[in-house]
Amino acid sequence: VAFGFRRVSEDQKQGLVNEVFSKVAERYDQMNDLMSGGLHRLWKDDFVALLNPPRGQASFNHLDVAGGTGDIAFRILRAGGPNVRVTVADISPEMVAEGRKRAEAEGLLGRCGFTVGNAETLAFPDKSFDGYTIAFGIRNVTHIDRALREAYRVLKPGGHFLCLEFSQVDVPLMDKIYDAYSFTAVPAIGKVVTGDGHPYRYLVESIRTFPKQDDFKAMIEDAGFANVSYRNLTGGVVAIHSGWRI
Ligand code: SAM
Repeated sequence: VAFGFRRVSEDQKQGLVNEVFSKVAERYDQMNDLMSGGLHRLWKDDFVALLNPPRGQASFNHLDVAGGTGDIAFRILRAGGPNVRVTVADISPEMVAEGRKRAEAEGLLGRCGFTVGNAETLAFPDKSFDGYTIAFGIRNVTHIDRALREAYRVLKPGGHFLCLEFSQVDVPLMDKIYDAYSFTAVPAIGKVVTGDGHPYRYLVESIRTFPKQDDFKAMIEDAGFANVSYRNLTGGVVAIHSGWRI
């Protein structure tokens, strides 16, 4: 499989991905702001608006996979009512530790649990969640099909699957500008802030090799989901895919 511009074995890839996130964990949120010019906040807000967690007293048990430092989880908790609960599962203990710290600081730890775990082998029983989100996470997973099947397994019938991920830019000229930006500026910023440009080269390459909108939609359908659809944000720089377990 591809890792940056290298080929590595499947077993190696997850280890290298973990190294990237353990290195950047403390500065992860800052880097997002810097590299997306703050856009990731708007994308995440749109994403959580689509999940639309219940605002009233209804209970809602949610799983945020690859939830890292808790950005999506905290948005869900703020958007929803008092009986919304979010479990974060992320493979990086360093990212999870940052997330837990942030949850505590924001007084959200009571309704938000942090766990270390792999998207491909979730440690939760079948049909245990009302919602599943994965934001900027699935392209890091070695076997996307396994992660999608796990998402399906842990969702209750009627449960909602939502994925936010970098995608294929579909606006002429904008794709050229985006290419130039991501291949030169992103590793350069990464090097200045974290002292190492390599992780960010991986990041850019992982975006390039991720399946296009329609192909990814077909993969979600293959995992068993119904009513699968997607929408592009910012001309396809990112896309939100949605599906239902029925
Ligand atoms: N969802 C957060 C956000 O949007 O800010 C974090 C996204 S971050 C780009 C990607 C996260 O995926 C990292 O925290 C990384 O540890 C996690 N990750 C990578 N491979 C994973 C896997 N196989 N299972 C679960 N999490 C994984």
